Amino acid sequence: MSDIAANLARVQHRIAEATARANRPAGSVRLVAVSKTHPAEAVADALAAGQLLFGENRVQEAQGKFPGLRPGHPGMRLHVIGALQTNKARDAVALADVIESLDRPRLAVALAEAMAKENRRPDLLVQVNTGDEGQKAGVPRAEADAFIRACREEHGLPVQGLMCIPPVEGDPRPHFAYLAELAAKHGLGVLSMGMSGDFEAAIGCGATHVRVGSAIFGARDYPAG
Ligand SMILES: *Cc1c(COP(=O)(O)O)cnc(C)c1O
Repeated sequence: MSDIAANLARVQHRIAEATARANRPAGSVRLVAVSKTHPAEAVADALAAGQLLFGENRVQEAQGKFPGLRPGHPGMRLHVIGALQTNKARDAVALADVIESLDRPRLAVALAEAMAKENRRPDLLVQVNTGDEGQKAGVPRAEADAFIRACREEHGLPVQGLMCIPPVEGDPRPHFAYLAELAAKHGLGVLSMGMSGDFEAAIGCGATHVRVGSAIFGARDYPAG
């Protein structure tokens, strides 16, 4: 068994245990394997181990990796999880099955236009800056309600849920709980929250998708924002 296959099995086991501890149905949490900075060979190892759902934070990097793998793996799905520039919206719509980083009005407009041009409608998640951190992507808390409504009602976008990355310091659970409450308020079913360091806590707070990179693929050689 490759290291990646063994790591995947370990993470899946931890997900199953956290799901059971939270009294949630088995299989109710999906694992998004975050392969950013790792080569296509690493993705191929994960595919061979049965993992079909992947996350990448840069469109250009994903374009170099995924199209070549798709033909042999029709069930493969790609989530774009990183900050998205408006000039990459069309590439993202062409490539992704889910875009998790919708966080501002100009991007909403760009994605609506890109979907019309590409005739393709990947699911969208609104990213919320739950810590209201200055440097971080995501819509600020105070604007989240209005932004979610505008995306759905004005721009007609297929928003299915919410995503957050809590501050590095401190307990992430209040952030996860806030995101879960916001999703419920808007009738949104998808909650993408939790990474290698905190996915079990996120599952306890209702995550439907956890985005796990380093616990599967190992440490990254260089930072990817
Ligand atoms: C890199 C990244 C992850 C995975 O982080 P790990 O700590 O390696 O599990 C999850 N979500 C986003 C948005 C990321 O950029």
